[in-house]
Amino acid sequence: MIEFQNVSKVYPNGTQGLKDINVTINKGEFVVIVGLSGAGKSTFLRSINRLHEISTGNIVIGDQSITEARGSELRKIRRDIGMIFQNFNLVKRSTVLRNVLSGRVGYHSTLRTLLGMFPRKDMELAFDALKRVNILEKAYTRSDQLSGGQQQRVSIARALAQEAKIILADEPVASLDPLTTKQVMDDLKKINQELGITTVVNLHFIDIARQYATRIIGLQAGEIVFDGPVEEATDER
Ligand code: ADP
Ligand code: ADP
Repeated sequence: MIEFQNVSKVYPNGTQGLKDINVTINKGEFVVIVGLSGAGKSTFLRSINRLHEISTGNIVIGDQSITEARGSELRKIRRDIGMIFQNFNLVKRSTVLRNVLSGRVGYHSTLRTLLGMFPRKDMELAFDALKRVNILEKAYTRSDQLSGGQQQRVSIARALAQEAKIILADEPVASLDPLTTKQVMDDLKKINQELGITTVVNLHFIDIARQYATRIIGLQAGEIVFDGPVEEATDER
């Protein structure tokens, strides 16, 4: 589903973000990437949907190279990838529903989107997504009126409305308290299990990783230092 082939990333200032990474993430997996701050977790995740360019190597999504994709081909691959960020990345002054519908934007002409004319199918997908993360009653609330946990659930709903087949979550719970962390991680796990969405999550904390992951990948200084099932991941790493 996601394959890194000899992937390296060197930032313009010379910092090596990733060093010759070779790894395959299979369909339906719930992979947690762990590592200290600066280990390369974010660089790894952002490389997958080409939020930034890698320096050498190739990344294959499904049966297509995203590294080589151009124009409409690239947009089509990206449509399958939902992204979730630590700071939620919602349009604060827009309603929850609007934010979730923005997951549909890539599917329509710009004009249609500007006018806010969403087809019935989009509305159904948006409401289904809000239901799945238990936040339907907030559909018409401005997103900046919600708690952090609720905002993160909205961003998960946005990825669901997008009909993403892959979800990439970059430190999705880093700014949340323990109870809210559990709710958000439970939601990610639930949609992984119910919908088979391949999920890759960056986390600081190995104890949370252990509770949710089917597989843990440990990064250190841009290299994979651990890759295996949860049972084999210990604190020594
Ligand atoms: P993590 O997500 O594990 O904290 P990052 O992927 O953000 O790690 O960073 C990996 C390395 O790349 C670190 O040394 C970091 O300082 C560096 N880095 C990240 N982004 C940039 C950037 N835009 N320019 C230069 N160096 C960067
Ligand atoms: P959850 O844990 O379900 O994410 P909280 O228990 O933190 O939510 O919030 C409970 C209620 O308080 C929610 O209905 C939310 O709308 C409201 N709320 C929480 N934080 C804020 C905030 N910063 N501004 C406005 N309303 C908030």
